[in-house]
Amino acid sequence: MRLCRFNDDQLGLVEDDVIRDVSAALDVLPSARWPYPLGDALISNLDAVRERVGEMRGQAEPYPTNSVFLKAPVGNPTKVVAAPVNYMKHLEEAIDDPETFSREHVRKIQETGLFLKAVSAIVGPSDGVKLRKTDRRNDHEIELVAVIGRKADRVSRDEALDYVAGYTIGLDMTIRGPEERSLRKSIDSYCVLGPWLVTADEIPDPSGLSLELKVNGEVRQSANTKDLIIDVPGLIEFASSFYTLQPGDVLMTGTPEGVGPVHPGDTITAEIKGVGVMNVGVSAA
Ligand code: MN
Repeated sequence: MRLCRFNDDQLGLVEDDVIRDVSAALDVLPSARWPYPLGDALISNLDAVRERVGEMRGQAEPYPTNSVFLKAPVGNPTKVVAAPVNYMKHLEEAIDDPETFSREHVRKIQETGLFLKAVSAIVGPSDGVKLRKTDRRNDHEIELVAVIGRKADRVSRDEALDYVAGYTIGLDMTIRGPEERSLRKSIDSYCVLGPWLVTADEIPDPSGLSLELKVNGEVRQSANTKDLIIDVPGLIEFASSFYTLQPGDVLMTGTPEGVGPVHPGDTITAEIKGVGVMNVGVSAA
């Protein structure tokens, strides 16, 4: 099942070329008051929501897919966990260009560990990227994103995929430079998620998905998740050995080679086979 958030925070069921408004399925979510439980309520209750969506599908109003405003499919993650330099060829291109990639950030992922992006950086494809500090190099990074489905605390890689609710595409937008990753990658709009969530049952094995990113139609990144240094189960094991992953938490798995700058006026097209394709506009903040 493919679920999106569109227009006025409506829940959408994505079919071939229409999105059906299944917002009424959100009625199955428990009401909550402050302090809200950690995690994303939709993801925490995904099975119940999916059942209701299936029941109401026939009566749900269809919208042409290309007519809606797509927001990020996850509303309230507690953290965005991200993998630095998790493809060997990206490590090589970073080593080869020390002017762009500060030396202290170019190490093997097993040594660097993981980093966090601020959840306030999350936007959807229709929101677009709003660049800051345009005198510096602002790069695109396409990444496969796993969305965690339930609490994961010290999970082994063998059972890790049981904790995944689904997958989406992520753009880990980045200002190059010497500062900590959490600063350079947490600018508002520097975490694009979309176009929708594909539930995990549609992608039983996330290790053979091709990714492609174009800027203004020109291919910049083209790779396959089979070349991840630490794969999705390994990343879940690694992350959950340090902290508990909550429902809705976003796991960005790292970008392959071919990263490069974007400028106001550009359009990024990001595609992962089996997940979808999204167009993201770039402007100045
Ligand atoms: Mn990245």
